[in-house]
Amino acid sequence: MTRLIIIGPPGSGKGTQAEHIAAHFNVPAISTGDIFRSNVREQTQLGDEATRFLDRGEFVPDDVTNAMVRERLADADANGGFLLDGYPRNTSQVEALDAMLAESGNHIDGVVLLLVDDDELTARMLNRAREQGRSDDTAEVIRRRLELYRTETAPVVDLYSERGIVADVDGSGTPAEVTDRAVAAVERLLER
Ligand code: AMP
Repeated sequence: MTRLIIIGPPGSGKGTQAEHIAAHFNVPAISTGDIFRSNVREQTQLGDEATRFLDRGEFVPDDVTNAMVRERLADADANGGFLLDGYPRNTSQVEALDAMLAESGNHIDGVVLLLVDDDELTARMLNRAREQGRSDDTAEVIRRRLELYRTETAPVVDLYSERGIVADVDGSGTPAEVTDRAVAAVERLLER
């Protein structure tokens, strides 16, 4: 059983790395951002609720997000482990996740923390805006998402660090180099 989380600022390459690391450990990569975006595209009720938050770079309210994750983790493919990408994003989501897992006697085994410097982040996000046309990749919304990362998500890292399960991973270089570093770091965590 491998239950992992990947945390990194917007633009850190977190989504791409989540896919590759999850494939290595043979678990599903579960991206809350992707789930929200596909619900927005398909105009579901969840999508209608979430869209105004996504467009402004704000967090979707915790009750909505936690319920969505709870449902996703109940799917059969997540039984043998998972890699969460984009969740938990604040300390109250950490508590919610802990409680969900505790119901079945489980816990998070490791957290990959992707480290990328600020100038590189902004450059990557503006580039992604040009290539993928994501509506939340405008300069103003990018600023807001970086700010929320620093104020809300950094404390999440502190909580997991206290448990000794965070692996710092240098996010510079080619995607394959970063994946190799991340996989090696997680394997070290899991061996202990
Ligand atoms: P991401 O693809 O992880 O950058 O997420 C894109 C957007 O989805 C975020 O800016 C939020 O609006 C929303 N979102 C994703 N995950 C969460 C979460 N755990 N809590 C609240 N909002 C989220």
